Amino acid sequence: MAGILFIISAPSGSGKSTLVSELRKQVSGVDFAISWTTRAPRGSEENGREYHFTSREEFERMITEGVFLEYAEVFGNLYGTARLSLDDARTAGHDLILDIDVQGAAQVRAKLPEAVSVFVMPPNPRVLRTRLRNRSRAEGVENEEELFRRLREASKEIENYRDYGYILVNDILDRAVAQLEAIVLAERFYRNGETIAYRSRRVLEVAAACLQANSQERLKPVLEAFGIAGTSGQQELKFEEVSDDD
Ligand code: ADP
Ligand code: 5GP
Repeated sequence: MAGILFIISAPSGSGKSTLVSELRKQVSGVDFAISWTTRAPRGSEENGREYHFTSREEFERMITEGVFLEYAEVFGNLYGTARLSLDDARTAGHDLILDIDVQGAAQVRAKLPEAVSVFVMPPNPRVLRTRLRNRSRAEGVENEEELFRRLREASKEIENYRDYGYILVNDILDRAVAQLEAIVLAERFYRNGETIAYRSRRVLEVAAACLQANSQERLKPVLEAFGIAGTSGQQELKFEEVSDDD
């Protein structure tokens, strides 16, 4: 069986690492590509588990050696996916998930148009800010400047949602995990003819509802909250002015 390549992108703090880790507890045969990065480990992160951490010098050497399928600069650091991750998943006959930013996703799509892409959105800027803040607190680092940088970047990243096949709004975690699971199972069903047992019809319905083409109504309030107008251009949203929940 040929594995399926899934690309997942989202503004930082939307919950994509959480979603991917929950998905992998529930669905077998899904590998996660551990990226290389020049950023420093955060909180309890370990080299070789969340990322392969390396120096900029080493990363640049790897670029010249053609190690990466894609790479990009995000928030001042380099991030890249090694081609080897794909080879390993293919050899094992597993699906592979790439958690990469919108620039990396565009590079992969150009090289591997058969990839399935999923964009994860936070429900609104207030929730995103709370999640970013809670994560920083849990990791023992609080950097307001970095927080607002990531929030400002969020609207720009969300504008790219149209390039993705599926859209998830990560509001209630269990529901978003179930939707991601449905997308994986539905793609296995359509591409590999894999059976998805008695739940099949429901799974296919859930996945179909997450297709970008079927998501416009669901996305309207999210896009509005991020100051992204549908057809009439973009509005300016000042995150510093969004009030906290807590
Ligand atoms: P990302 O990988 O997109 O940067 P994370 O998975 O690290 O985001 O999630 C950011 C924070 O939000 C974490 O503290 C995580 O526990 C929390 N989180 C993720 N999804 C949800 C959700 N649906 N509801 C509440 N908190 C969530
Ligand atoms: P973080 O530093 O919060 O873990 O990730 C910051 C951003 O870098 C996220 O948008 C994440 O998806 C992206 N990212 C992580 N790994 C890669 C990668 O290998 N390539 C690219 N292009 N982006 C990545």
